[in-house]
Amino acid sequence: MMLQVFLETPIEYCKGVGPVRGELFKKELAIFTFGDLLNLYPFRYVDKTKFQKIVDIHDDASYVQLKGRIRSAQLVGVGRSMRLVANLRDETGEIELVWFNGAKWMVDKVVAGVECIVYGKPTVFNNKLNITHPEFETLGMDELPTRALTLYPFYSSTEKLKTRGLDSKGISKVVRKILDDAAGKIPEILSEDIIQKLKLPSREEAIFNIHFPDDFQKLNRATARLKFDELFFVQLRLVKLKLYRAEKSKGNVFSTVGSNLNDFYFKALPFPLTEAQKRVIKEIRKDMASGKQMNRLLQGDVGSGKTLVALMCMLIALDNGFQSCIMAPTEILAFQHFKTLQRFLANLAIKVELLTGSTKTAKRREILAGIQSGEISILIGTHALIEDVVVFHKLGFAVIDEQHRFGVAQRAKLWEKGELPPHILVMTATPIPRTLAMTVYGDLDISVIDELPPGRKSVKTLHYYDSNRLKVFGFMKEQIRAGRQIYVVYPLIHESETLDLKHLMEGYDAIVRDFPLPDYAISMVHGQMKTKEKEYEMGRFVKGETNIMVATTVIEVGVDVPNASVMIIENAERFGLSQLHQLRGRVGRGADQSYCVLMTSFKVSSDAKQRINTMLETSDGFVIAEADLRLRGPGNIEGLQQSGIADLHIADIVKDEKILKYARQIAIELLQDDPEIELPTNLPIKTYIRQENKRKGSWGMIS
Ligand code: ADP
Ligand code: MG
Repeated sequence: MMLQVFLETPIEYCKGVGPVRGELFKKELAIFTFGDLLNLYPFRYVDKTKFQKIVDIHDDASYVQLKGRIRSAQLVGVGRSMRLVANLRDETGEIELVWFNGAKWMVDKVVAGVECIVYGKPTVFNNKLNITHPEFETLGMDELPTRALTLYPFYSSTEKLKTRGLDSKGISKVVRKILDDAAGKIPEILSEDIIQKLKLPSREEAIFNIHFPDDFQKLNRATARLKFDELFFVQLRLVKLKLYRAEKSKGNVFSTVGSNLNDFYFKALPFPLTEAQKRVIKEIRKDMASGKQMNRLLQGDVGSGKTLVALMCMLIALDNGFQSCIMAPTEILAFQHFKTLQRFLANLAIKVELLTGSTKTAKRREILAGIQSGEISILIGTHALIEDVVVFHKLGFAVIDEQHRFGVAQRAKLWEKGELPPHILVMTATPIPRTLAMTVYGDLDISVIDELPPGRKSVKTLHYYDSNRLKVFGFMKEQIRAGRQIYVVYPLIHESETLDLKHLMEGYDAIVRDFPLPDYAISMVHGQMKTKEKEYEMGRFVKGETNIMVATTVIEVGVDVPNASVMIIENAERFGLSQLHQLRGRVGRGADQSYCVLMTSFKVSSDAKQRINTMLETSDGFVIAEADLRLRGPGNIEGLQQSGIADLHIADIVKDEKILKYARQIAIELLQDDPEIELPTNLPIKTYIRQENKRKGSWGMIS
């Protein structure tokens, strides 16, 4: 325990920090203690032996590192256009450095005569080479005590910290001071077994070397060790949660298959199941009969037939005397599920109802009574399902559609509705790369439908600039003449609903002008319409009464209109990859060749270009998901906040897949041998978890 004291020392107690900078550390970087600062790892290391010569730089070189002397530096311009312009010279030539932001305080550092290291991306401006906002460090490593370094650490800082001398170099000095005093005070957090087995350096050695490595080999070992630590503790928590659930949460046993499933399967099912559907149903049945509560994630691309799988499992629940529910993220989706199930169950006496926020009072009362008495077997709805007034007679199986919009807390809330918690199936049409699944859904079992029903033609994807709109309109007319239906989708830009609506209305007006009645009928659906209106308009399109559906992304998931063969996506550059993929999945459901047309303006960002190209190149949901993760980074993926990923400083779940796998494997082995983490050899692990618990209060119920 004594060991912890050092790392828990408040940061302001470090010599040279004091209350003012201490406060800044807290506010700007959430660094409260010595330990927090030691966990701020450098994002880059300068190899002091490797500098480019200015003479060798050409315009589109990637980043360069230069060493030289400032020949001149001055503020130019006034007010908002004020900038600092400096000239850096080495023995081969000269290059201009420019700062627009923070010019005022950079001027104190970038002074003529000063020797410095500069890192940045050169560009040509007015026929002259220049680097804008380079990283800038004055030389004089002698200020760093005790060790001569070849690898010099760079830390990310903030504007405010920099004004107080805590730029990268300032931070490195504080780190240095703490480390000079830290020998023997950084406790080990892994067991000796694991360290031996993976041949890792000690935690202390790794912390020293991540900040001030002697060479790249030591740096690499330190990096691997610290990445492992982060991923291992995330996995340990997830695996433990999963084992805990499996062990502690008993579930209803669905042992029989009876007339509901059999009647459906033999009399109502209009087509054979795909092999993937069969496999997944088997997996679910096994869970449901096990006596443990099922927590399973069902992944399957759009149109892979997840709803049907869910339905068949609900029929098994019913055969065992239990009710089921499906919770969908929007009313339209809930409505669609309702219609789909009604269609599938048309000739069977199974009572299905729909409950949403806009269900009328009288109907609502009737449904609530039917749910409580058990007369209703399957309830479909939105968030309305988890309200306290909804009391099931015997809820045995809950399906959550498109889970990424529901939080873990909501999933948990559903469990309170029965005596034993219902089996839970989370369905998602957003394929998740394996690494991510292991992390985000590490507490769930995973089933994958990796096969589309037969006869689907692949969707042809095209990219057009807005200037070619007339050509696209011509193509739409051809398709309508051939009897097809068309979606035209506009993005939600979120900043302003009124603007989004205006945008949509303009598009709608343009289409109405070009597609006049009575030859063409057009539906429109957007977020500001009343549910009734939306349903009416959707209904017209579904029934084939309209040729074109103009909509915002409310149709993103779930709607199923086999005759719709063209998906036009306006401002496609505004959509994320997984959204584009979802939208494309709305077509290609019927027998005809389908098309997805991505419309963009001529100039789009390079990220947007990559998204469009990915869409043109592949229709494989998993490939798209990987690309999405690479482009957006894990931090921006929905649902990740609760997964512990937000706490990763150094590990990257995309790049560090191999370490992640090790970490998970080791976590599983450890918990098999020592489920409660109580063996003396695992004391370092237990101690660390305890301490992190205290710090974050996040391990909660399991330790
Ligand atoms: P998902 O929910 O996975 O996007 P759906 O369950 O909505 O997919 O299924 C898409 C369409 O494919 C629906 O019209 C459904 O009836 C149909 N379908 C499902 N399974 C099969 C199958 N095995 N063979 C043929 N069509 C199927
Ligand atoms: Mg579906």
